[in-house]
Amino acid sequence: MRVKVWGARGSVPAPGPHMNRYGGNTSCVQVTLADGDVLILDAGTGIRNLGVGLVGARRINILLTHLHLDHIQGLMFFPPCFREESQITIWGPASPEASLEDRIARYISAPLSPVEVRELPCSVSFRDTPATEWEVAGATIRAEAVTHRGPTLGYRITDGDTALAYIPDHEPALGAPLAGLEPEWISGFDLARGVDLLIHDCQYADDEYPEHVGWGHSGLSDTLIFASRVEADRLLLFHHDPLHSDEFLDDLGATAKRAWQGLRRDATELELGQEGGEFAVGPAVQAVHA
Ligand SMILES: [Zn+2]
Ligand SMILES: [Zn+2]
Repeated sequence: MRVKVWGARGSVPAPGPHMNRYGGNTSCVQVTLADGDVLILDAGTGIRNLGVGLVGARRINILLTHLHLDHIQGLMFFPPCFREESQITIWGPASPEASLEDRIARYISAPLSPVEVRELPCSVSFRDTPATEWEVAGATIRAEAVTHRGPTLGYRITDGDTALAYIPDHEPALGAPLAGLEPEWISGFDLARGVDLLIHDCQYADDEYPEHVGWGHSGLSDTLIFASRVEADRLLLFHHDPLHSDEFLDDLGATAKRAWQGLRRDATELELGQEGGEFAVGPAVQAVHA
């Protein structure tokens, strides 16, 4: 399995000279399975650049964690949507309120968009994620509701002997400290248990979190304790706050590595999500380039 980050930002795109290294595009991660098939995790603005390079890909699966704009904003600018030969399946959380298609169409419709979903030349289908594990492109997928604002999923993707968990918007500590909580009371615990790579929300530094309790995101310490409790082999800090500059994130990363060592883990197992960052994921994960 290979992973490439196309957008690691949360909430709103954050372009600018102080954001160039970690990038300003919102959540989008490409997962390439062992047999070459591609899964796309979220459709934030990062998906536009990903789509530019997906020439010739016919079958495309996009797994949406939820429908906040920072996770769907790039859909309307995803080049395969405008190719007749593309067959796109968009998976996302069910809601009693309206179908997945109707909820996404609130964005891809007038006056917010120049095109309507039904006008897209590609073939696109919208699917609620099943309640039990299912197969997509040969990988086994599990989706579970996690603590955030509104119906939100985390994903576990298993391909052969490799497992990845993607939980970009998550506040597992809401309500109680994570360190002493029984696993069954920790949101997302089973989803992330023992994965080779955990991609997880780390929107706030610890001193920023108290002002944002209940906003649906994690402070650094909670992210680290969650990753440690689930025994993830490797951790990618994700969904950076739009106000966090490269310099701020460098400092946050250094703090994170020290705290991770304090949890008796190796500092090389942790890094910050960076646009363009690419990894081979397996029992021994290696960064290919950043
Ligand atoms: Zn988000
Ligand atoms: Zn969100």
